[in-house]
Amino acid sequence: MPGRVVPLATNSDSGHSIESARRALTVRLQAAGIEEPSLDARLLVGAALELDLTAMMTQVARQLTPEETTRLEAYAQRRLAHEPVARILGAREFWGMPFRLSEATLVPRPDTETVVELALDIFRERTISGRRPRIADIGTGSGAILLALLHEIPDAFGVGTDVSLTALNTARDNAEALGLADRAGFVACSYAAALRGPFDLIVSNPPYIPSGEIPKLSIEVREHDPRLALDGGNDGYDAYRALIPQATERLAPGGALIVEAGQGQARDIETLMVAAALSVDRPAKADLGGILRAVSGRKMPP
Ligand code: SAM
Ligand code: GLN
Repeated sequence: MPGRVVPLATNSDSGHSIESARRALTVRLQAAGIEEPSLDARLLVGAALELDLTAMMTQVARQLTPEETTRLEAYAQRRLAHEPVARILGAREFWGMPFRLSEATLVPRPDTETVVELALDIFRERTISGRRPRIADIGTGSGAILLALLHEIPDAFGVGTDVSLTALNTARDNAEALGLADRAGFVACSYAAALRGPFDLIVSNPPYIPSGEIPKLSIEVREHDPRLALDGGNDGYDAYRALIPQATERLAPGGALIVEAGQGQARDIETLMVAAALSVDRPAKADLGGILRAVSGRKMPP
């Protein structure tokens, strides 16, 4: 019924069908200024009822049980307080694959798929003979970038580093759940310090937000993503300055470093790569929002 005012769901409101619960939640989220109210409402109703999208669509008229209503209301309250849906669900899809999250892991972003795309473009131009390809992911978090690459490059071995042991445990669990654990290792160290190499691909989405900008981020990010995953120091470049020289030393000749850039950072990252004697011969790749998001440099054969 277009234009009808949808009553707000409350704990005592037990009379909702799946469809009306979804619509009522959309209206509440929208009124609270949540960015994608209808998508979030659909995901939260699905999670509260443990139904996927298809099941939800075929059962739109089914009534919610009192337990489902209570669970949905709890999810609604959390989202209304700006907790991201991925945190409420404890999971997020990246590169079409499901990733579990923990409080120590960043929620993987769609923009970061640009790093995976550029790494694959570069990798596929080169032939490696006589051994299996080796990949390192610095600051692996949930393992998103590394595991997406191992999924796409079926004979590769990979290692992910992080300073957070909790994040490394989550990444390992994700590797197991995705059937990639026999090709993935996880190491606690700062950037690439404990790795030897040589690697054919080194990828990283390091923390790159200038410290002073963090208070200006959305509540979803500043209160729910770990500070260690965001804070790039005074100017945002601390991690790049540390990891680019380390990565360069550990690349095989012809291998490439591919890093994610924050908005407006691509040019300065290229300068740091050139200073570390990497060859920056390929333009940075833009994400779907047009922001130059993935920057690469190659180690030239001697
Ligand atoms: N790669 C994941 C992704 O793209 O979703 C996570 C990226 S998050 C922006 C940065 C990650 O770097 C966090 O997991 C954080 O714990 C880790 N990190 C921060 N400082 C680090 C350091 N000195 N050495 C290694 N990892 C670090
Ligand atoms: N892309 C994240 C954000 O802007 C930041 C992640 C990072 O610092 N690498 O919310």
